[in-house]
Amino acid sequence: MSSSSLRRDAIDAINKVSPGGGRVDYCTRPIGEVYGEHVFNETEQRRVLPKSVFEALQRTARACHELDPGIADAVAVAMKDWAVSHGATHFTHWFQPMTGSTAEKHDSFVTPTTEGGALTEFSGKELIQGEPDASSFPSGGLRATFEARGYTAWDPSSPAFILDNPNGATLVIPTMFLSWTGDALDEKTPLLRSMEALSVQALRILKLFGNKASRVYTTVGAEQEYFLIDRHFYHARADLITAGRTLFGARPPKGQELDDQYFGAIAERVMAIMAEVEYELMRLGVPVKTRHNEVAPGQYEIAPLFETANLATDHQMMTMEMLRKVANRHGMVCLLHEKPFAGINGSGKHNNWSMTTDAGENLLEPGDTPHANAQFLVFLAAICRAVHLHADLLRAVVASAANDHRLGANEAPPAIISIYLGEQLTDVLAQFKTGGARTSKTAEHIEVGVAMLPDLPRHAGDRNRTSPFAFTGNKFEFRAVGSSQNISATNTVLNTIVAESLDFVATELEKAPGGEKGLNAAIEELLAKLVGEFDPILFDGDNYSDEWHAEAERRGLPNLKNTVEAVPRLCADKAVELFGKYKVFSERELRSREEIMLEHYATTLSIEAQTAVVMARTMIVPAAVAYQDKLASAIVGAREAGVEDAQQLEMLKELATTVGACGKAAGELAEAVEAAPRNSAHESARYACEKIVPAMSALRKLGDKLESIVDDTVWPLPTYREMLFIR
Ligand code: ADP
Ligand code: MG
Repeated sequence: MSSSSLRRDAIDAINKVSPGGGRVDYCTRPIGEVYGEHVFNETEQRRVLPKSVFEALQRTARACHELDPGIADAVAVAMKDWAVSHGATHFTHWFQPMTGSTAEKHDSFVTPTTEGGALTEFSGKELIQGEPDASSFPSGGLRATFEARGYTAWDPSSPAFILDNPNGATLVIPTMFLSWTGDALDEKTPLLRSMEALSVQALRILKLFGNKASRVYTTVGAEQEYFLIDRHFYHARADLITAGRTLFGARPPKGQELDDQYFGAIAERVMAIMAEVEYELMRLGVPVKTRHNEVAPGQYEIAPLFETANLATDHQMMTMEMLRKVANRHGMVCLLHEKPFAGINGSGKHNNWSMTTDAGENLLEPGDTPHANAQFLVFLAAICRAVHLHADLLRAVVASAANDHRLGANEAPPAIISIYLGEQLTDVLAQFKTGGARTSKTAEHIEVGVAMLPDLPRHAGDRNRTSPFAFTGNKFEFRAVGSSQNISATNTVLNTIVAESLDFVATELEKAPGGEKGLNAAIEELLAKLVGEFDPILFDGDNYSDEWHAEAERRGLPNLKNTVEAVPRLCADKAVELFGKYKVFSERELRSREEIMLEHYATTLSIEAQTAVVMARTMIVPAAVAYQDKLASAIVGAREAGVEDAQQLEMLKELATTVGACGKAAGELAEAVEAAPRNSAHESARYACEKIVPAMSALRKLGDKLESIVDDTVWPLPTYREMLFIR
């Protein structure tokens, strides 16, 4: 079968698809019964555990402490019995190595008896610690393969759950993943450390305000964007299979220009997938809330209610997994890549972030009393200071080959990090900076602890969608995270940089004389100083404009254009000092992460380049040559009939020279891949950025040109028009 018929077969097959469905039935079992049914949550724990064990477990979970080994066996047995009653046969320690995905290795509960039968067993030791053969996970040099052992450690703050498969079920236990020397080999460990650091510093501030909170949690709600395309198309495209994105593809005549997609009616086939994803996620206790069409054709969004950062991260990983799985059941493929289609909006993950006390007080909620407002302003200012000092780290941690296509392109936030606060708050802060002269359009007179803040708008309409870091009423929304990325690293950085600023602010304010008056005066003085310092990071204008780029440079804000520029900031002296001080990352751990990210970047580009070469040589050029042959014969035939047309000769010439150029560009790209240095991650990444990226884009240009002039009936690859609009 020729590949051109593969494309036609794909379309034929799709025409016969009818929307799947029928797995979800909320009439028989209402949603309230379904929600959380597969989670060993507080209700289940209370039901099956002795009271003292239940309470000890709850204390452990809330404080993120280690579990008392004395109760581990009791918890394990109860957990196992609960899981077995839900059809589980196996358990797994589930962790997040630095591959971007999750990892699991299943072990059976079954232990044979001497009489030939079998028991189910699960010990406290097996619950608390596991030892996966970890030699093949990236460690960035932390672990030589001969001492490959790492271990997984139970995270009681994220409840265990049951994952169904068509032939059984598995008890899934969320864990950290560490080396025997105690180095973090995963995404969860540093996140938990950073949450602890933030809590400690935030409590110092709250204490000054007489707040009795005993813990502060960071809360996160991550909105996930994704594409769905038919599986037949996916299988007909080598680039989607190996790279997750199209390496060729001419722009369709209709893209997103008409803006008719955003929030539009959802196609039935897509709706069936969304509903099933939500059903499966709700069973797992993931609080999915919102679904809608996104801006680009074939693009959608799913968003949950916020939770503590650790749980939100685990649930986010489960959401991506479930999107992939369920799409497949319906004959579609979920593309989580940041830029599957050139010229069409990419996908991000808006990371909504705030802080909440154990009493449930959102620290970024402007208050109803002057006292509460003063506290709010202190936290707000600390965050602005943090982002101003460490914008480079926020940028570094979302860097990847895939996200490079998005950041700085005209739809996503730019690579320059700035903060949008909205008109009122910007104005309020500006008043502190100018000291005495306190009049404004929105407030008569602002004085800490005395006057009220003006009412702040909390509606979507007031937002600046172009800002990478926007205050949205009672939380910050960081929009630079890539759609396929684990949100853990972003929140680890956010928590740590904010912890450092809260530490700084607390240290200053603790020097103030006692009493509310003394504190308020100290806050006013400190705010004036801080606002003056972080002022350059505040920007309410259009982040996509060229003027902003020039202005940002004048303000001295970093503009780290790509992964190779951004990632090394993780190991700059100030970063090493910061993460070390709050015990989030040691220097060794930072260096390992830097290496893994750069290596991943270089490897991704190498795979993409090799795929592009093969596609050009074995699919695009042969199709173009076939058409060239047809055109040449037609011209010869016409000439024999006495017709000579200069334009036809021009067409042939253009085709032939483009084919030649395409073949040449493929050869150059192949050579560039061949010549890539392999001695260090830094060098490989720099080379990939400087040599591979331009060579690949030169080849793409020629391939896309051929698509627009070659006979459509011989073109082998499903086109953008087809992939984005046929479903
Ligand atoms: P949108 O940004 O699409 O208008 P919302 O503002 O309603 O939507 O919320 C977006 C996300 O922000 C949701 O996941 C929501 O749960 C989350 N969110 C809301 N409040 C907080 C908070 N205090 N901390 C963290 N995330 C929050
Ligand atoms: Mg949003």
